[in-house]
Amino acid sequence: MGRLDGKVALISGGARGIGAAIARRFLDEGATAVVGDVLDDDGAQLLAQLGDGVRYVHLDVTSPADWDAAVNEAVTAFGGLSILVNNAGIVNFGRIDDYPHEQWARIIEVNLTGVFNGIKAAAPALARAGTSSIINVSSIAGLRGYENLAGYTASKFGVRGLTKAAALDLGRDGIRVNSVHPGVIQTPMTEGMTFDTGHVPLHRIGQPAEIAQLAVYLASEESSFVTGAEFVIDGGETAGTVVPPGS
Ligand code: NAP
Repeated sequence: MGRLDGKVALISGGARGIGAAIARRFLDEGATAVVGDVLDDDGAQLLAQLGDGVRYVHLDVTSPADWDAAVNEAVTAFGGLSILVNNAGIVNFGRIDDYPHEQWARIIEVNLTGVFNGIKAAAPALARAGTSSIINVSSIAGLRGYENLAGYTASKFGVRGLTKAAALDLGRDGIRVNSVHPGVIQTPMTEGMTFDTGHVPLHRIGQPAEIAQLAVYLASEESSFVTGAEFVIDGGETAGTVVPPGS
């Protein structure tokens, strides 16, 4: 028996990285899933790997019409919707006094308004499921500030706040809403970047499959009394600073 038997998920930004790992794990646990992304080639490849229990749709999270179509695909193909994973996100960098308005507007539009769009589009179908779960992928940058990351940090703090507000609004409909706050995870988003993990208690970066394990818990009935909460998954990075080995 799978931990997500009979559940139907919609996962944004799911063609690769953390979203793809969540899709893979959800299917292993008995769910069916609609994966949405702007990277249609990656989406087609994932579809070929995962087989019958998954559909791919082009989903730009900034487009309410795309969201409506994605929710409709879940309902039509799989009979309803019981899990929404707001995972799509982008990152951009720059000192705040040298950070263009366009980059600010874009990151807020994708990382924060994209989550709002998803919740708004999916809420009616999620309510019809009786019990359902929204998982918003924030970041440890939604818990504390990072240099040269003003837009990303603000957007991820916003996701954390939006999660609390949505949990209050939607609890009566049986919809639980929680946020997940990963530390550095090995995905295409972080490819080519170097990270000093000497100060991190577990002394390594994380893997997408480790985020997927947490997502299974939050999507399943195992977390039936959990809503409006934030889940840190960062190898201990925000717990404090350890002395790097050898220093
Ligand atoms: P990723 O590999 O870049 O995957 C994110 C996916 O979202 C990409 O396919 C990306 O496509 C897509 N996307 C971008 N804009 C979109 C839009 N408007 N509509 C729909 N999809 C869009 O990144 P990831 O590392 O798996 O990140 C997944 C989530 O985890 C993000 O919200 C990220 O902020 C968060 N997170 C990641 C880390 C980390 O260290 N990797 C840490 C904390 C939090 P493009 O290539 O076109 O952008």
